[in-house]
This record gives sequence, structure tokens and C-alpha cells, in this order.
Amino acid sequence: MKTYPTIKSAATIDAVIPYVEALLDIRFKFVKKKRYNAPCPFHADTQEKFMVYVNKEDEVRFHCFGACKGDWDITDLIMLRKKYPFRQAQQVWAEHLGVSDFTFDDGRSACISEPDETPEPDEPVGFVESKQHDQQMVATLGDAASFYHELLMSNEDRFRTVWDFLARRGVGIETIRAFNIGYAPPYSDEQHHGRALIASMLPRVEKNPGTFDTLSDAGLVRFLNDGSVKGYGYYCRQIDFGRKDPFSRNYGDYLAGRMVFPIYDADAGVAGMVGRRLEDRGVRWLKHQAREVPLSAKSWLYGIEKAAPYIRQYRTIILVEGLFDYFAFYNLLQGQDKIVVVSTLGSYLTPEAATVLKSLEIKNYIAAYDWDELGRNGIERTAVQSGGWVYYLGGLADGQDPYDKLEPVVSAISGFSLKHL
Ligand SMILES: [Zn+2]
Repeated sequence: MKTYPTIKSAATIDAVIPYVEALLDIRFKFVKKKRYNAPCPFHADTQEKFMVYVNKEDEVRFHCFGACKGDWDITDLIMLRKKYPFRQAQQVWAEHLGVSDFTFDDGRSACISEPDETPEPDEPVGFVESKQHDQQMVATLGDAASFYHELLMSNEDRFRTVWDFLARRGVGIETIRAFNIGYAPPYSDEQHHGRALIASMLPRVEKNPGTFDTLSDAGLVRFLNDGSVKGYGYYCRQIDFGRKDPFSRNYGDYLAGRMVFPIYDADAGVAGMVGRRLEDRGVRWLKHQAREVPLSAKSWLYGIEKAAPYIRQYRTIILVEGLFDYFAFYNLLQGQDKIVVVSTLGSYLTPEAATVLKSLEIKNYIAAYDWDELGRNGIERTAVQSGGWVYYLGGLADGQDPYDKLEPVVSAISGFSLKHL
């Protein structure tokens, strides 16, 4: 039976160099006997601060004289490079040496902590909000929305689960097109590694590094080494030291793993995005998120760019909470050319969104589904200020077809007959 010290001492410089080059993808330059240098694979190194040397105990060590300032043996290096736990690092090294009768060391590496196994944070919804809202930002958000949309449109088979999820909720290809709905593949995606948008933007960033600041200010990218965020361990594991450029190495798409719903303002400029995971969490996800995440862009009303002309015509609006409630109404109203529905993306109307509504001089506010008291107060205040009325549709009974409930309401929307409902 071989033990850990045996395979460790088998790590001679002649054994280690070809292994590290071929399997850990680090290219060394011969300096002198028992000395090799390479650009450090663990920090943005333009010099060759990463060194291999043999110490007094005849042990091969790896050392970074740059930002890392680390000193490692072969198993440490395998752990770092492959993000393996100590046990697995021993195993691959033993396998490389052709050692099969091997007793693992059950301890830990002296200097490398075990890879953090924090799971992906349970945070089903992400909001992309830009810092400032100038023309460049709107254009960047628009480009990103179109990129994710094209990705979804051109990969119907690959993203079958997304297409099926949307179809089950009444969102078909025409609606996907009309709302520029897209998909940001997750970190586990073998092709994009959670960096689809970043990768598509790299040529622009290379030409003009300032482009990256815009992406960052737009909220479209996530710095993966941010110790202050929930799920730090998970995001940290997504840092990809194998990448040459520091952006795609250290950043991921903020909405990775989510369906992307761009939010437009009444003038059809992109105001932000909602990204939603495929796991269905009803409308609660939105309530929960909207209360806990401080949205600065609170004037968001999903669908307002489609609804505004109809709202002006009929002086009527239907307010729903969630995105998929929205699409149920949209499908119904579209056929009748009365698209007066918007989603408040939460169970209350923010003052900023109320200001948008006031400018539309609405007389009939139809609040769909069960709004709580806070939500009701917000709508009523807004309605009173513009001399309007509020109608509550209430929730759907179990098994009730939304169409049966909504159809009479929709038929009554004509600008004056709603009061007789
Ligand atoms: Zn380094």
C-alpha cells in the first residue's frame, strides 16, 4: 500500500513539469536547472511571476511572487487548478503515476482550503438595473436584451426546457418575439459557462475597455469574487483561471441561468430586465423579491410600452402582479385589440409607477387577483388623484378557467360601460 508521502515524493521535477503543462495547462519557460517560470495562472500576470523550484528537502514547489504570494506542492496545485478537494487531488496524481494500491491521507492540504461547496444561492429572480440612465446605457441594455433573445430563438432544441416552460404558461413564439424574451445560459452550461453575454461583448471590450464599465454599470455582469454577496462560495467557484482575459475570468453574466424579460418604458427604451429561473414559484417570488431588493428603477411597469396607446384610448388599465399573469391577460386582450394590461412586478404600486399612470389620465383601474391592503391602498390613492375608480377582480377559484373570469370584464372595456359591470 502506498501512502500520500510516497506519491508526494514521486513528484520530481521531471515528472511534474510535463504533467502540469499537459493536464493543468500551464506553459513553463526553462530558466536554469530545477527552475522554470510561467505567467501565474491564478492572478492577472503579465510577467512570469509563477516559479517552479526544488527546495532543500528535494520537494518540488510552486511559488507565485506576484499577487498570490502562495507556495504550493503538486496536490495543492491540482486543487487550485481543478477546484478539487484534497482527496480527489491525491487521487488524480496517484493515477497519473500509475499507483492503484493507495491509502488516502484523510487530512487537509496545509495551505489550500477545500473547495467551498456552497450551492447556487436560492434566489430565483434577478433584477438588472442600471446606475444612470443615459442613451448609452439604454443602448447597452437593448443590445443585451437582443443578444439573449437571439440566443433563445436560435437554440430551440438546446434550450428545449425553456421553450417548454414558456409554452406551458401561454408564452409562445410570437409572444417571445413581441417581448424580446431571452435566455441567459447558466454557469453549468458547457458552451457558455454563464458568460454568454460577456463572451459576445469581448471584441468590443478589447477595442474599447470603457465598454466593460458600461456593462458593469448596467448591472449586466457579476464580479465572481465578491465576498459580500449571498452565495459567495458558489460564485467564487465559477472564476475560470483558464481564461486569458480578466473579464471573462472574473466576471459572469448577472442573469446567468435565467429567462430574461426586458422591461421597457412607455417610449419603448429598455429600462431594465427581470431574470427568472425556470423553477416555478408562482407569484410569491416577485412579492418577496420586490420587498427585499431595493429597486431604484421603481417606475417599472411590465408591458407599458404595449399598453399605453390602448390605456389612453379606453381610459382603463388592468393591473396584475406577476409576469405570467400578465401574459394570460395579454393573450386574451390582444385578440380584442384592447391591450390595457400591465404588470406591477410585485403586489403594490410604487409611487414612481403611480406617477407614470397618472400621466395617462386613467378612469378605470382594474386590479386583478388578490392584492393585500398595502397594494389596494396604493392603487386607490392613485385612482382618487385622477378621479378614477378601482375594480377588484379577486383571485381565481381552483380549476377556474381564467378566460371565464376575465371575458366579461374584457368585453365591458369600452371606455364607459365598465361601471355597469
Ligand atoms: Zn499569482
